[in-house]
This record gives sequence, C-alpha cells and structure tokens, in this order.
Amino acid sequence: MSAHDIQGCLSHYWGYPDLREAQKPVIAEILQGNSAFVIMPTGGGKSMCYQLPAVLQSGLTLVISPLIALMKDQVDDLRLKGIEAAYLNSSQSPEESNRIFNSIGNGSLKLLYIAPERFKGMDGVLLQRLMSVQIALIAIDEAHCISSWGHDFRPAYTQLRDLGQHFPGVPILALTATADEATKVDIVKQLGLEGAAFFENSFDRPEIHYTARKRENEMPQLLEFIAKHRGESGIVYCLSRKRTQEVADKLEDAGFRAACYHAGLTSAERMNRQDQFIRDEIDIIVATIAFGMGIDKNNVRYVVHMNLPKNIEGYYQETGRAGRDGMDSEALLLYGGADFRTLSQHCVVDGNEDQSTIMLGKLRRMQDFADSRACRRKILLQYFGETLLEDCGNCDNCQTTFELWDGTEDAQKLLSTVARLDWAFGLAHLVDILRGSKAQKVTEAQRALSTYGLGADKSKNQWMSIGKELIQHGFLSQAVGKFPVVELNARSWDVLKGHERVMLTKFEETKVSKPSKVSRTSAFDDGSADQDLFQQLRKVRYALAKESNVPAYLILSDRSLKELCIEQPQSPLELHSIHGFGKLKVEKFGEQFLEALREFGAG
Ligand code: ADP
Ligand code: ZN
Repeated sequence: MSAHDIQGCLSHYWGYPDLREAQKPVIAEILQGNSAFVIMPTGGGKSMCYQLPAVLQSGLTLVISPLIALMKDQVDDLRLKGIEAAYLNSSQSPEESNRIFNSIGNGSLKLLYIAPERFKGMDGVLLQRLMSVQIALIAIDEAHCISSWGHDFRPAYTQLRDLGQHFPGVPILALTATADEATKVDIVKQLGLEGAAFFENSFDRPEIHYTARKRENEMPQLLEFIAKHRGESGIVYCLSRKRTQEVADKLEDAGFRAACYHAGLTSAERMNRQDQFIRDEIDIIVATIAFGMGIDKNNVRYVVHMNLPKNIEGYYQETGRAGRDGMDSEALLLYGGADFRTLSQHCVVDGNEDQSTIMLGKLRRMQDFADSRACRRKILLQYFGETLLEDCGNCDNCQTTFELWDGTEDAQKLLSTVARLDWAFGLAHLVDILRGSKAQKVTEAQRALSTYGLGADKSKNQWMSIGKELIQHGFLSQAVGKFPVVELNARSWDVLKGHERVMLTKFEETKVSKPSKVSRTSAFDDGSADQDLFQQLRKVRYALAKESNVPAYLILSDRSLKELCIEQPQSPLELHSIHGFGKLKVEKFGEQFLEALREFGAG
C-alpha cells in the first residue's frame, strides 16, 4: 500500500488532504497486518486509524464499541461518504439485525460495529458466522473499559479476552483516550497485546481553555459564563437528575434553548433531546454524566461542571467533548466545599478495599487540581504522565497575576507544629491545634504545645490554604492513600532553619488578566460579513441534515463551513479542495452550497 493509495482514498472518501501525524504510524502498522495499542486524546482522530485500513484492505473490519449512539453516528457518517458499514446492537429490530447478519461476508460490507454484549459466551451463531469469513482487523474502541483499574469498567468487555484465540492471525487494534499506568498494563495483558506496537500521543488539547472557580452563587456564575456563549452549543454537568431539571428550567427562563438529560427520562425522550442537540435545535444540554458518552458533536464550544468530578480521567474526557473541531472552547469547573465529602461516599466499592482506596485517591487528585493555582494544563498533562515545560498561557491560573506575600513566619508556625507532634496528622488537625481549638480531638498534650493557639489570627480556611500551598510547592509532604497525613521533608527543614523564604499567594485573589500567550483560532474574528454567510450556510446544512435524517455536523463540520466562507469556491472542482468535501459529498450536497455562495455573492 503506497502513500499514494492512502492519500487518494483519504481525498476521495473524506475530502481530507492528509493523515494527521499521529495517525500515520498507526495506520502503517495496521496495513502491515500487525496489532497495535493506541492512546490518543478525544478528538485526536482514532476512528480514522481503523476506518481507512478497512477501506483499503479486503475483508471485513470489526469494530467493538460500547456506545450504541456513537455506532449509529459513525455508520451514518461512513455511508454519507460512500463506505459500506453497518452495526449490530440491542437497539435494532430482529429483522434489521437479521438483514445485517446475512450481509456479513458478502464482500461489499467493509465495517461492522458490534456491541460487546453480542459476544456473550463466545459460542453463538454470530461468532461462527464471523469466523467463517475473512476478517481484516478487529478494532476495540474505548479499550479501557476492559480494566477494573480504569474509571469506566464494563463487565461485558471481559468477553473480549478470548477474541485473539477465535481469530488467530487477525490483527487487533485497541484504542482509548484515557488510561493511567495500571490500566494500560491491564489492557495489554487482557487483550494479549504484549508484542503489539504501542502508540501514545500527547493528551494536550490546546484549544480548550480551563477555569476552576469556587461555587458561590451558582446560577449567576453559570449565567454570566453562558451569556458569553449565546447561540453556541454547550454541555452543563450536574450530579443529580433533579438538579439538571432545575438548572435547565432556569436557563430556559433566562432565554436559552436548554433541556435536561438524565437516566430517569424514557429512552425516546433521551433520544429526542440528544437529536435536537445534535441538530443545533437545542443549544445547551444540562445532564448527569450519563450524557455525552455517545456524542460526537464536534462544535461543542463549552463544557461546565457544576460539581467536582470524581476523577481527572472523567473530567478530562468530559471537557474533551468541547472543541473537537479544533476551534477555541472553554471548560468551566464550579466546585464547592461539600463536593468532596459527598463524592467520597461514592468512592467506596463494597468488599473491595483496594479499589476504594484507588477511587478515593483519584478523587483527592481532582480536588487538588481544582484548588491549585498552578497552570491547569500542566497538572492535567502531568497526571497522564506528560510534562509540559512551560505554562500554557491559556488557563485561568496562567492568566491571573496572583499577588504574593511573605508567608515564611506562618509556614514556620505550621511546620514546627508538625515537628513537635509524635504522630502524623492530617492538615485539618494541625490547623485546629494552631488555632487553639477546644475540640475534644485536640488532646491535652497537644494543648500544651508552644504552637497551640499561635495562629488564632487567621481563619481555618486561610490556614488550610497556607497548608495546601506548602504542599503544592513541596515544603511539606502529604501521604497518598486513605490517610493523607503530612510529614516534614528536607525543604521543610530549610524553612524551619530560616534558609529559605516562602512566598504564598494572597487569600483574596486579584484577577488581573494577562494577555494570552498563544494565538488561537476564533471562529470569527474577521468581521460580520463572514458571520452572515456562515449563518446562511448553516441553514443549508440544517436543511440537508433534515433531509438525510442525520446530525448537521455529519453533513459538514463548522470548520468546513468556515473554509467555505473564506475560500468561496465557485465550482465543484474548487469545492473539492475544501476540507471535508469528499467525492460523494461534492456530488450529493455540492450544488446546494455553491448556490448559497452564489446568492450571497450576488446580494
Ligand atoms: P476520537 O475518536 O479520537 O475522539 P474522531 O475519530 O471522532 O476522534 O475524530 C475527530 C475529528 O477529527 C472528526 O471530526 C474527524 O473527521 C476529524 N479527523 C480525523 N482524521 C482527520 C484527518 N486526517 N484530517 C482532518 N480531519 C480529521
Ligand atoms: Zn496554563
């Protein structure tokens, strides 16, 4: 298979000029008939890694995916491009699934999407059928679901362990957007990928701007944020169903097109709302985390969390639903005092102390992320094992100048309290001692310490924030695990001995924006004429989507529309050079867009 074939196929079906750098080595590996394990962030273009080989190779490509809604989308998307694809899952009628079953191995079907449940027992008729035809590749999407070390374990995935034995010699491609070290190792082991090529790509999503704020008055905070995004698509995550309803109502009262989405709605209602969102008929979906798993809408401009998420994996995946088209997007996290306590109760996995400890540890990291005043992107990437050398310039902390004060004396008070105790305690207890608390848990011996009551001039919150900052800067160590007790380290002694001064951020943070360091692509910074044309083209897209009964973004992405505005092509041939216009799309939809462009030019 030459690079020429690849580019020809890409341009013919997808209308894309080239593969992304991260896709190239993966696809080369697959085309050589080898297995691979790929970690690529959401929006990175994982699907292409198996779709392009599926088109280029003979035989059928199986795609295992847990997300029923996404399957339908992908199949619709492929068919719109002229690629034969189908899916088998529980949402179909028996007739429909029989028809698809019979088309297996007919030679024209290139991709078959299958829900993992379909492999139950691994001896069914389906398996027999699949084993009797030529299988080119087995792609396992969301591969982290196979591991109980991950944050999204799905028991049905464990059926996939035997897949390799049933299809000897067929390459396996495992794909995921999120996996920490333990999960990665587990995936390799369970799928037998020891000898496979491993590709890990940067997790960075430079187009997403991160902000975390204390939840103060909640609705006004949310409304202020959303007002900046009127007419754009966004997702707001809440913890409870009741809360999604309330927030959606308030947004509607404020004149936004919003709807709630949660597991308590009938599946018809859920499907309907999801469709409306995808078709841009609803701008905001207020949802429990159940929403979004199967959503591949690429023009989501913002994601808001109204509570602390349970772990950084989940947070990153959810915020990753914004900006898939690569254009500027925002992630806002509003978190409050009680979140941690409420969520820590959910972290307890009955009868599995190890896993409870893992989950609690993950929650604590999430809280630290929210509290931190360091570059958010640095923290996120660090979490996934990547080091960003410079601050990103595109997060709230990077854009805030924190006023500093010399906190050496307070740091010494706190550190010397730790030094005087004959047992390790958590930060909160230290603060109680420093503030001279009369609470029973502060023992007689502790009340006799010289530092007892020495910090009564500061509030509990102020002391907690001093303590956390000392930890973040490495002046104090905190144990990981169930009991996050604090301990002195070498740098603590430097401070205690007066060798090092400690600069802390002011409690009342002063928000002074620094100009962003990175230049970013805004959808429209170039005048309103484009904006009018863009709206015109959106209408054309909307009409075509309705006609074909698919979501608007499957017809064309926002990026393609923007290119149309700028390039203003006049002929089908020129249209073909626009991103996303493959051969079939030029034939099917080209004329309508060209007509809109002509009208606009004449007007
Ligand atoms: P993931 O599954 O990794 O989240 P997708 O496969 O949904 O990502 O791809 C994200 C977006 O990137 C899609 O809109 C897709 O069409 C687009 N895309 C993928 N590969 C390319 C490419 N080589 N050139 C341009 N766009 C691409
Ligand atoms: Zn930053």
